[in-house]
Amino acid sequence: MKITGVRVHQLDLPLREGRYTWADGKFVEVFDSTVVELVTDAGISGWGECCPLGSAYLPAHATGVRAGIIELAPQILGLDPRSHDILNRHMDRCLRGHPHVKSAIDMAAWDVTGKATGLTVTALLGGRAQESVRLYRAISQIAPAAMAENVAGYRAEGYTRFQLKVGGDADADIERIRLCAAAMAPGEVLVADANTGWSMREAARVVAAVRDLDVHIEQPCPSYEECLVTRRRTALPFILDEVIQDLPSFLRALHDGAMDAINLKISKLGGLTRARQLRDLCVACGIPMTIEDSWGGDIVTAAIAHLAASTPEEFCFTATDFNSYTTVELAPDAPRRVRGRMAPSDAPGLGVTPDRALLGAPVWEI
Ligand code: MG
Repeated sequence: MKITGVRVHQLDLPLREGRYTWADGKFVEVFDSTVVELVTDAGISGWGECCPLGSAYLPAHATGVRAGIIELAPQILGLDPRSHDILNRHMDRCLRGHPHVKSAIDMAAWDVTGKATGLTVTALLGGRAQESVRLYRAISQIAPAAMAENVAGYRAEGYTRFQLKVGGDADADIERIRLCAAAMAPGEVLVADANTGWSMREAARVVAAVRDLDVHIEQPCPSYEECLVTRRRTALPFILDEVIQDLPSFLRALHDGAMDAINLKISKLGGLTRARQLRDLCVACGIPMTIEDSWGGDIVTAAIAHLAASTPEEFCFTATDFNSYTTVELAPDAPRRVRGRMAPSDAPGLGVTPDRALLGAPVWEI
């Protein structure tokens, strides 16, 4: 089987709540997503998606995703999409770095492989370890009391794990964490995710001020070294996200005892092939994961559901149903949240059938 064509689509994903705000006042109101259709000579095509969290979160941005795919696409024609490792090594030879660019192509290749073999991506990624996966809800950064008030509404939607967007003013963040911790019901889990928004000094103040609470601290500072200093100052469970970009950065952090869990984002690593490698290493090394992506719609959410469902429950801390945050339903068969959990499709591949009318004409194709 050979890749014979690549179609690139652009899709706007407006937020149901109007705006999503994280550290230091950064926000997005309409996500700019890129959907890729990988066409083959076998009459099978596969779907992939990459949606950066704006341009100020990771070193990735939406128009860059499309520019990178346009650069790469002519160079992958003729390759077998089922040979995931060969495809990834070839993409790395053709374009240095830019994992988010490669992610949508790699995701589409897994979809093709599933359709060609009659297997779900869950099966291809190791088998169904969980019937459904537990989801968390990100609580957008607003005034502290209003964030705590939002917990009840999300709980009514079935969520039992909450990720508080902090990384703003340290005093306000201490109040955010304390008020939200007080709003937790028995068995619920609270994560305070600073998304690199604190200096070491601010992080030191916050972790000391909330040390009596049952809260996880996620990615307090920009650099790995600053996070490690903060980690050594607190006994609270500690999650690394933005600084875990590949296997070497994970291995260094594992060696240093720098975290109790990581946040694994598919496009941060370059797609499902590399995400699976890190997932398997985490399972082997006893490190639980939040399994998600930088953002996305129905296709990214389906990929998350397959990767998370093929991960043992004790290592799948949480996953994300990004498609419930936005107003666009591109694929009617995409996974949907049910009582705070979601399950991948049993159909071959990713199990998503995008609505071509909604998608419109490709913005670029070869
Ligand atoms: Mg995070």
